Amino acid sequence: MEFAGSHILSVDQFERGDVERIFSVADQLEPYARRRRRTRVLEGAILGAMFFEPSTRTRVSFGSAFNLLGGEVRETTGFEQSAIAKGESLYDTARVLSGYSDVIAMRHPTAGSVAEFAAASRVPVINGGDGSNEHPSQALLDLYTIGRELAGRDRSIDQLRIAMVGDLRYGRTVHSLCKLLCLFDRVQVVLVSPGELRMPEGIVDELRAAGHEVLESDALEASIAHVDIVYSTRIQEERFQSQAEADLYRGRFRLNQSIYTRHCEPNTVIMHPLPRDSRDSARELDDDLNDNPNLAIFRQTDNGLTVRMALFALILDVVDQVEKHATAVTWYVGGRTP
Ligand code: ASP
Repeated sequence: MEFAGSHILSVDQFERGDVERIFSVADQLEPYARRRRRTRVLEGAILGAMFFEPSTRTRVSFGSAFNLLGGEVRETTGFEQSAIAKGESLYDTARVLSGYSDVIAMRHPTAGSVAEFAAASRVPVINGGDGSNEHPSQALLDLYTIGRELAGRDRSIDQLRIAMVGDLRYGRTVHSLCKLLCLFDRVQVVLVSPGELRMPEGIVDELRAAGHEVLESDALEASIAHVDIVYSTRIQEERFQSQAEADLYRGRFRLNQSIYTRHCEPNTVIMHPLPRDSRDSARELDDDLNDNPNLAIFRQTDNGLTVRMALFALILDVVDQVEKHATAVTWYVGGRTP
């Protein structure tokens, strides 16, 4: 695809070569993300960060990624703070706000709304999550992390074995990740969820049409025995009709160190898009895994910064200028090893 000026709305828009291009730009930008170099390549550019649903990581990492390239960030959070609360349409908001920014990152609770906004925007829009539909930048950083975790282990994204666990019905990160995996070869996917929260049929069909082996299960322990990656997810309680309904499923699948030791192959990588639900009633990834070197959740968040920097550099077409605007970092940067 042509990245310059493009919206990033769904992983459906990528071919394998596009994903590989994003990953190679991310590799190139890693020294800037890790504060070994700095660049002012986007000096003067403005990111409009519009988050109409709770977000910490995605919002802050989009903002920090833009800052690390030298740009400025303007934030709008919550419907109450925006003119949408006065009845303004997405069309009008998009027309107005795209006049103030060079690129927009947006999250919205309604599936399809970010695409609707993008259609009226005069600048590129990145989908930071639209309802239970998609979360393309998360899927890219997840896949980038998978590739890096497996490097040096004689395993790769082709022929990957992955278990996705939890709320596969409403979890947008797993929807996008499955679609991205369709670009690779001979993947084995074990989908572990309560029957009511299964992966949407259309996505399972897409995986099978890509030639992947798909198993569906509601039993955690047997499903994580022969995989490279366990990708755990939170019950998306904000998408349920009632709290009581969400409570039926919370805590159903809990991975802790003892289950890991008994059932997983050595070095199985543990991932989660975060936030993990650490309340006693949930604990899908127990805190006792924190010292497990295969817990990759904080490497995922670090990689999120790099991948989002890559998206901005590609969309705003400055990949080849990053180096020209680079200088040394002069402040204390110790303690940054992942
Ligand atoms: N942060 C992810 C998302 O926005 C996962 C989650 O909220 O559970 O979809």
